[in-house]
Amino acid sequence: MGVTTNLKQLTRRYMKNNDCYKAGRKIKPKGIMVHSTATPGVMAASWFSRWNRSYKKGEINRQVCIHAFLDDKEVWQYLPWDHRGWHAGGAANNTHIGFEICEPAGFSYSGATMVGYDVQKHEEYFRKAWKNAVELCVMLCLKYDLTEKDIIGHSEGHQKGIASNHADVGHWLPKHGESMDTFRLAVKEALQKEGGDNLQPVAIKVGDVVKIKESTSRYYPGGPRIPNWVKDTYHKVTQIKSGGNLVIRGGKSCVLLGKKVDKNSKEESKGIMTWADIDGLTNLSARPKEDKASKGSGKKLYRVQAGAFSKKENADKLLKRLKSAGFDAYIRRD
Ligand SMILES: [Zn+2]
Repeated sequence: MGVTTNLKQLTRRYMKNNDCYKAGRKIKPKGIMVHSTATPGVMAASWFSRWNRSYKKGEINRQVCIHAFLDDKEVWQYLPWDHRGWHAGGAANNTHIGFEICEPAGFSYSGATMVGYDVQKHEEYFRKAWKNAVELCVMLCLKYDLTEKDIIGHSEGHQKGIASNHADVGHWLPKHGESMDTFRLAVKEALQKEGGDNLQPVAIKVGDVVKIKESTSRYYPGGPRIPNWVKDTYHKVTQIKSGGNLVIRGGKSCVLLGKKVDKNSKEESKGIMTWADIDGLTNLSARPKEDKASKGSGKKLYRVQAGAFSKKENADKLLKRLKSAGFDAYIRRD
């Protein structure tokens, strides 16, 4: 949920005429490679018409395609994230999602050197694009269980022997006092914030309508028995925390059944006001969505938490706490 809230301006438009898209090869993303365009003033949306072309048909003079471009305002996604891109000029294409940060107008290049680049004039643009780049990385890290350590610049990729010899983005970031190291740090900090915000028992949330499973006999292990009439009605969850903490009863994470909802008329009435183990409930409000980027894979939105955040200290601690409390931690991903 929080995963995409900061990336409101992401537009998806696949470059279906590009031979790379047509090649249709999939990867399991193991990292992210940061590029910049070396083309002053051409913003993210404009790259679609430039690169949505076929090299084989002679419409473009090189074989190139990348997952996304971003600028100070928006992110344009041009390939599915798990599609093998043509951005690294090396083995990183098999492992890395790539994106290009567009460079602002008002300077030129002499070889790989920026000429007439006015740091002060471009500072605002740079900061906004930087923020979009950080947020895109956060989203992708959460999506593919990556950390900031898995992010490299194109020039770093060359040093590692997995990318062609390009200077980006090591030629640009230092002009604004930044580097790939400070970029990774920014992603790390944002990830910790996101991780903390996202780690909540959203398998069932306030406002969801639930029913008690037929097989459930007690509200929670060791708790009161559930009378049959309570199972004959639906319930609305009105609270998932108490005093800011998750509510654990009988070693299970519980939610408050604060309102009754009539099975047929859906009318709400005074609830039983009892905490109930979420494992004993069926969430009738849960609407499974498909990840559009991974067509037809039917990826589920809900997943067991354990793996996803294991690399992040912050989330790890929280997770530990939840687990020791007997809580099955889940995270909802977008
Ligand atoms: Zn590059």
